[in-house]
Amino acid sequence: MFNMTKSLIIHGGAGAWRISALVERAIEAIRKCTEQAWRVLSEHNNSLDAVIEAVVCMENSGYFNAGYGSTLNLLGERELDAGLMTSTGLLGAVAAVKSTRNPILLARIIAEKTPHILVAGENADKLALLYNLPPLPPPPQHVVERYRDVLKKLVREEITDSYYKSLSSLIRGGVFFKLINDILNVYDTVGAVAVDDNSVLATATSTGGVLLKLPGRVGDTPIPGAGFYADKNIACSATGIGEYIIRTMPCLRLSLEYEKQNDAEKALNSVVDYVNRTAGSNTMGFISVDKTGKILYAYNTEAMLISYVYRGEVKVFLKPEPRVNVITLS
Ligand code: ASP
Repeated sequence: MFNMTKSLIIHGGAGAWRISALVERAIEAIRKCTEQAWRVLSEHNNSLDAVIEAVVCMENSGYFNAGYGSTLNLLGERELDAGLMTSTGLLGAVAAVKSTRNPILLARIIAEKTPHILVAGENADKLALLYNLPPLPPPPQHVVERYRDVLKKLVREEITDSYYKSLSSLIRGGVFFKLINDILNVYDTVGAVAVDDNSVLATATSTGGVLLKLPGRVGDTPIPGAGFYADKNIACSATGIGEYIIRTMPCLRLSLEYEKQNDAEKALNSVVDYVNRTAGSNTMGFISVDKTGKILYAYNTEAMLISYVYRGEVKVFLKPEPRVNVITLS
């Protein structure tokens, strides 16, 4: 007999996810993090604790673009964003933090201990110290190597893709750019959504942003409605090119469509149509659970690493099919 409500889905980011040793490790890591988060959901029946468990686990793994494994900005620094929300009204986010290992734990502190929603920059890092959150260790070797490699190629104009050609000239001209990074991405942002048996829905998302972003750039991840959203009907976490996600607000849109249509599949299809029409393909993906425990996901990138628990078993997919899907667990 399977519970009708409780459910959980996690993502490790939408992008290219070209196969390599790192991808294999990321797959192993997301499986482990899903197991841990599912245990928390089963034992404590608390969707917020479950999504935090999932995201902290991925932030610590080093194989995702969040926390320890985060990608580097143009100057080789880390600036991390994270946000969380529940259907009971908890809402907190942090942007451009540089020295906090688990930005999602800091977002929880913002939500639970302050009257604010979004705190940014070095003062957010100071708050993390006050609450004894662990510091961010130096980046793993593979992150530094990838940064150097890509930067070198951009400066030498060795990247022939038209988008990167224009990026390298924009970098030389010092002009603000919008960055499509999925060609370069071998690992990515993380997010988790869950609903518990009390029908509390929760979402948590954490990212290092896009590779070689301009210092100070903040993406969709700490923006409610864009990178994450939760209300009485759905919890949602998005990933992809933040600038497109902020313009299209897929998570807020999913909530509004769900309210209007009272049907998970119709709501999901409306959002996907809108995103593809306005942002175009190869821009983003998102995961969601609804109040009845249905699992939803959609992506228009080459791949999206997702993991969920189906009848007690952890399932992991790198290129889930179909690309737009609603899964009923019963
Ligand atoms: N959405 C994130 C950002 O633009 C990046 C990602 O999901 O990979 O900051």
